[in-house]
Amino acid sequence: MSYDTIIVGGSYAGMAAALQLARARRRVLVIDEGIRRNRFAFHSHGFLGQDGRPPGDIAAEARDQLMRYPTVTWETGRAEKAERTDNGFRITDADGRSREGRRLLLAVGVVDDLPPIPGLAERWGRSVFHCPYCHGYELMQGRIGVIAVSGQSMHHALMLPDWGPTTLLLNGTFEPDADQSAHLARRGVVVETDLITGIGGEPAADPGTEPVKVTLAGGRRLPFAGLFVLPKSRVASPLAAQLGCMSEDGPLGAHIRTDAMQETSVPGVFACGDAARAAGSVALAVGAGTMAGTALHRSLLFCDDAELFARR
Ligand SMILES: Cc1cc2nc3c(=O)[nH]c(=O)nc-3n(C[C@H](O)[C@H](O)[C@H](O)COP(=O)(O)OP(=O)(O)OC[C@H]3O[C@@H](n4cnc5c(N)ncnc54)[C@H](O)[C@@H]3O)c2cc1C
Repeated sequence: MSYDTIIVGGSYAGMAAALQLARARRRVLVIDEGIRRNRFAFHSHGFLGQDGRPPGDIAAEARDQLMRYPTVTWETGRAEKAERTDNGFRITDADGRSREGRRLLLAVGVVDDLPPIPGLAERWGRSVFHCPYCHGYELMQGRIGVIAVSGQSMHHALMLPDWGPTTLLLNGTFEPDADQSAHLARRGVVVETDLITGIGGEPAADPGTEPVKVTLAGGRRLPFAGLFVLPKSRVASPLAAQLGCMSEDGPLGAHIRTDAMQETSVPGVFACGDAARAAGSVALAVGAGTMAGTALHRSLLFCDDAELFARR
């Protein structure tokens, strides 16, 4: 059986697209491995109407609602290979099973490559975060540490005083110049130059309730309500690259390039969510997924398949 659209990635972006297509009575296959980017966090913030809910609950409720539409099929598993066919696209999963669709949507998200500081990975999403809008408020204006990874951490350090008194922990990554030092001082940011040897303290059940402790070379331990770091990220699957979709460099890593309708450089292949933007959130993923779903529907309606695939 050929589907109107195969969607790889069934989280916020993929499900938002699937919902639009399902409501247009189109046959949609969602293939999802179930490894959401925010699975480490206890609570999700900043998504209107769902503020403060566990991120898994938001996704589970969305899936329940989506699966009430009879034209949606869900498969749990990992899509390993994407190919063009004469009539569309073929996706093959890890067990070697193939599925075909007239259009393809990649909503695969990204993987965060965390800096290898002992104790950091265990606290990711609990007391170590990347997005101040998502997790800054809950620190209740307590002391905040920004772990530098490169000169881009300047931006982070200059933003975070709006959420609490901020220390920039350089950890040997870069040295602010005179202008940058003056800017940090104007924002009240304290700068620590000693290397970080580890992060301790109990991983908190509620962010901000348990101080996280940064140990510096020389033995000093600095307590913080929370830490922020900007990890590099990469698209979570090679499917776009296999199809020859162009990518674009963002400040934290490459993402899939799309036009305003979420179509990639390969006609008939769409992408949305974190995989297709420089910085993401649940709200932005849902918005882009909604756009992708409606654009995909129009592509099915108004683009002649033979002409479309001749352009690839
Ligand atoms: C620690 C942390 C906390 C966060 N907190 C917040 C917050 O409070 N508020 C907020 O708005 N945002 C938050 N975010 C950001 C948020 O997680 C992302 O913006 C959002 O998850 C993006 O949705 P998405 O659908 O694009 O990708 P994801 O939610 O990452 O989902 C991608 C899906 O695709 C699947 N997939 C990937 N490759 C394949 C494949 N080959 N085959 C099958 N399936 C595949 C994955 O398994 C996954 O289910 C947080 C992020 C992190 C890291």
